[in-house]
Amino acid sequence: MLKNKSALVTGSTSGIGFGIAHALARAGSSVMLNGFGDAAVIEKLRSDLAAETGTRVLYHAADVSRAGDVAALVAATEQAFGSVDILVNNAGIQFVSPVEDFPEERWHAVQDIVLNSSFYAIKAALPGMKQRNWGRIINLVSAHGLVASPFKSAYVAAKHGQIGLTKTVALEVAETGITCNAICPGYVLTPLVENQIEGQALAHQLPRDRVIREVILASQPSKRFVEIEDIAALVLFLCGESAKSITGSAIPIDGGWTAR
Ligand code: NAD
Repeated sequence: MLKNKSALVTGSTSGIGFGIAHALARAGSSVMLNGFGDAAVIEKLRSDLAAETGTRVLYHAADVSRAGDVAALVAATEQAFGSVDILVNNAGIQFVSPVEDFPEERWHAVQDIVLNSSFYAIKAALPGMKQRNWGRIINLVSAHGLVASPFKSAYVAAKHGQIGLTKTVALEVAETGITCNAICPGYVLTPLVENQIEGQALAHQLPRDRVIREVILASQPSKRFVEIEDIAALVLFLCGESAKSITGSAIPIDGGWTAR
C-alpha cells in the first residue's frame, strides 16, 4: 500500500512511535526511526524491523527539542530515501506537578519536545512535500489536546498547541495533495504511562490494578487501554488515498473519554 513512500517517525524507539513505524514498514514504506535509548537495543530494533518487513529502515539520533537536529533529521531522511512523504510527529514526554510548583525547566522541556519539535519538523519537511504535491503529516497528540486534567499544565498546553498547529498547516496546504491531522489517543500502556502508574501507586498507596482502574483510567469510560496497533491502523488509514479529504482534524481514539 505504501511502496515507494518514505516515512519519518519521531520518538520511534519505544511505545506508540515504534508501533507506528512497524505498521508503516509492514505496509511497504521506508522508515526513518528516531528517539533515545541504548545504541545496541536500537540497532537491534532497526535491523529486526528491516529483516521482518524487507523495507529500508534507518535510525537517526536527533534530539527533536533542537531545531538544528530536526533539520538534520529531515535532511538525512530525504538524502537516504529521496523524500519525506509521511511525517509522524510522535516524540513526547510527560511531567506532572501542581502549576505553582511546576519547574520552569520541565515546562520548557515539554513545550520543546512536544510542540516546538512538531513545528521544526513540519517546516523542514513541507517544501519537499509541496514539490511532489503529496504528503501526510500526522501529529500524535492526545485526548489532552482536547480536554485538560489537573497537574499536567505543560503537557495539556503543548498538546492543545499541537492541534492549533495541525489546523493552521492544514489550511495552508488545503489545495495541495498534502493533509495534516492530529490523532488524539486516550491512555495507552507504554513506558510513558508505566511511569505514571508507579508514581500514582506510591502517592495513593494503592495496588497496581486499582491505580490503573481508579486513577489512570478514571476518565476513560471503556476502562481499557487503547491498543498501539489500533493507533497504527488509524495512521495507515490517514496515509491512504481515501483519506485525502480528511485534513485539519483532531481524531479521538480514546474509549469515549472526550464524549463526556
Ligand atoms: P514513550 O515514552 O514510550 O515514547 C516516547 C518516545 O519519544 C521515545 O522513543 C523517546 O526516546 C522519544 N523522545 C523523548 N524525548 C525525545 C527527544 N528530545 N528527541 C527525540 N526523541 C525523544 O511514550 P508513548 O506513550 O509511546 O508516547 C508517544 C506519543 O504519544 C507522545 O507524544 C505522547 O504524548 C503521546 N500519547 C501517549 C499516550 C499514552 O497513554 N501513552 C496517550 C496519548 C498520547
